[in-house]
Amino acid sequence: MGRRGRIAPTPTGYLHAGHARTFAIAADRARGAGLVLRIEDLDGPRCRPEFTAAALEDLRWLGLEWTEGPDVGGPRGPYVQSERAAWFLEVWRRLEAAGAIYPSPHSRRDVEEAANAPHETSQIPQIWWQAPFPPALRPTHCERATAPGGVPWRFRVPDGRTIEFHDALQGTVCRTAGVDFGDFVVWRRDDLAAYELAVVADDHAMEIAEVVRGADLLTSTARQILLYEALGWTPPAFCHTPLVCDASGRRLAKRTGGLAIRELREAGWTPAEVLTREL
Ligand code: GLU
Repeated sequence: MGRRGRIAPTPTGYLHAGHARTFAIAADRARGAGLVLRIEDLDGPRCRPEFTAAALEDLRWLGLEWTEGPDVGGPRGPYVQSERAAWFLEVWRRLEAAGAIYPSPHSRRDVEEAANAPHETSQIPQIWWQAPFPPALRPTHCERATAPGGVPWRFRVPDGRTIEFHDALQGTVCRTAGVDFGDFVVWRRDDLAAYELAVVADDHAMEIAEVVRGADLLTSTARQILLYEALGWTPPAFCHTPLVCDASGRRLAKRTGGLAIRELREAGWTPAEVLTREL
């Protein structure tokens, strides 16, 4: 018997063979315990309904079966994040009441300038290392707020604390707040929940027991563990799948030509080949 799980595509493009492989592992590990399909369409105009429709079709063609989702319903829906704004706002309220987040009106330029000011924490060239949000831009004190009010909000991370978690495939993973990542956005200027808040809110509300996703999200998992703590919720178990690369060793991205599930299908690949054959 597996653990209740989920697959959570973002409809900004066609799903590729890497998504197929991660989602197949998720479905397999959730077998018999329930699998939620959740559409993560909070990325404004980049998310398009035709990509959602294509994702459902591609996942069905692969033979994946979910027990709750946008096309089958279920007790924990809606399963499309753009329809869950009220729940995300409730989670924002809880974080605000806990004093865990603060409004951060700075532009990307302010942040880059402050982050690139000479400092001692890292001699590593910026090209390999993305400087965390500079603590100098944190407010020294915050008024209580009743609504996000059209500015981004950030989670205040505990600088220097190492977050350690067990991953079913990667073993023990450690990330240090203030070094590997800094204060992160939980609410966006356009009044939508940011990814980290929405995913934690939904994995909790949908009673997900194990989160299976790509290893590109390992650092996000450390951030999300801090959100679970601030909300007084127990985090799920985690399983991060290895990133899938193309023949030239490049990580698959949505723009990867030719390796979209539907392109492979048109080229005559079977579902089993999409899941296992060398790319
Ligand atoms: N929606 C995210 C993506 O497509 C996945 C998020 C997650 O699994 O937590 O990259």
